[in-house]
Amino acid sequence: MAETAQVVIIGSGIVGSSVAYHLAEQGCTDVLVIERDTHQGKGSTGKSMGGVRAQFATPVNIQMSRYSIEFFSKFDEVVGHPADYRAHGYLFCATTDRHLDYLKSNREKQLKLGVKEVQLVTRDDIVSMVPQLRSDDIIGGTFCPTDGFVDPHSVMMGFMLKARERGVRLWLDSEVTGIDVEDGTIRGVQTSREFVSCPTVVNAAGAWAARLATMAGSKLPVEPLRRQLVPTEPFDGLPKRFPMVIDMSTGFHFRREGKGILLAWNDPEEKPGFKTDFDTSFIEKILTRAADRVPVLADAEVNPRRAWAGLYEMTPDHHAIIGPAPEVKGLYFVNGFSGHGVMHSPASGRVTADLILHGHTEIIDADCLSVERFETGQLLEETAIL
Ligand SMILES: Cc1cc2nc3c(=O)[nH]c(=O)nc-3n(C[C@H](O)[C@H](O)[C@H](O)COP(=O)(O)OP(=O)(O)OC[C@H]3O[C@@H](n4cnc5c(N)ncnc54)[C@H](O)[C@@H]3O)c2cc1C
Repeated sequence: MAETAQVVIIGSGIVGSSVAYHLAEQGCTDVLVIERDTHQGKGSTGKSMGGVRAQFATPVNIQMSRYSIEFFSKFDEVVGHPADYRAHGYLFCATTDRHLDYLKSNREKQLKLGVKEVQLVTRDDIVSMVPQLRSDDIIGGTFCPTDGFVDPHSVMMGFMLKARERGVRLWLDSEVTGIDVEDGTIRGVQTSREFVSCPTVVNAAGAWAARLATMAGSKLPVEPLRRQLVPTEPFDGLPKRFPMVIDMSTGFHFRREGKGILLAWNDPEEKPGFKTDFDTSFIEKILTRAADRVPVLADAEVNPRRAWAGLYEMTPDHHAIIGPAPEVKGLYFVNGFSGHGVMHSPASGRVTADLILHGHTEIIDADCLSVERFETGQLLEETAIL
């Protein structure tokens, strides 16, 4: 007997796992998740900084975050597994009027969409939260206390464990090598194990999603882009607890990670490609920006062997692509999170499950995330990218 499933999900990262969970929660349990690695989380999910925030500029991203943060806040109870959601907040620090105006106008949008907690803060407020910041050029900012962090691996495992409890199957160490389409309709997937016959395929292959789309004769504008993170050795020159701090003058941001500090900065010179090696010359670049904003960080020790790199899955407008592939019946995309796939995993799983099972969703205007926007030119513009 050939293997069959109602829905095949390609990729078992946080996004594929959330889709599996949300399908199963709605009673669709004949689901097979196919993962080429021997363990879950070896893609971008395991490399993430775990930041979650509602401080975005576009309604759809704000709504995705609102749904997701509410979900994270009750994750342990609902899913039965810890998300390790820590509401330590995100603190955006502006040094120019242009940036401050941008934060103020975003805050208006966030308030209208029900994110009531986001506050305008003065330089003094900022200094009282993180006294070690160099603040001479800071003119204000915004702080949202419900923003914060989760443990991406734990969230992914929670989604998958619960989905499996409900009957979802997971194949590890099994690569999807082809997608069979007949008369514009999905027939099944070829894998390194065997053929699986199915009417519905979800592409949750993260940074590799464009390759999978090509297998079905479809096009997906998703490109891999390396991002690098640098943890310091134990460092007590900063408070034990403080928000994710974003220096808008350079894009440098940092948060506490255990006893050390996790430093992040997106190098604008990085070019798209499947590069996941950590480049040691990055350390000097990031430490320069770190010491400029937080002088005590000049004393922090860094072990290059503990630094790492992973891939963002970028789209041209830095918004996710969620929904059916227009030219292949039964193929769904949930891709291109452009740095926000962890924080938006609850909403994206729910939206994808809703679209597969009911053809619509109530939690966002899903049409604006359809892949067709790149053909029709109705791109979204999100400038608050980290
Ligand atoms: C350094 C860094 C920091 C980040 N920080 C944040 C953050 O603070 N907040 C946030 O929200 N996001 C962050 N992100 C982004 C986030 O990690 C990703 O958006 C998210 O993990 C995407 O999840 P995914 O499940 O789509 O992809 P992945 O976790 O990459 O999973 C895709 C899976 O598909 C599998 N796969 C691919 N091809 C095949 C195939 N042919 N057959 C079978 N399986 C296949 C892969 O093996 C992989 O396991 C960060 C990313 C990086 C790299």
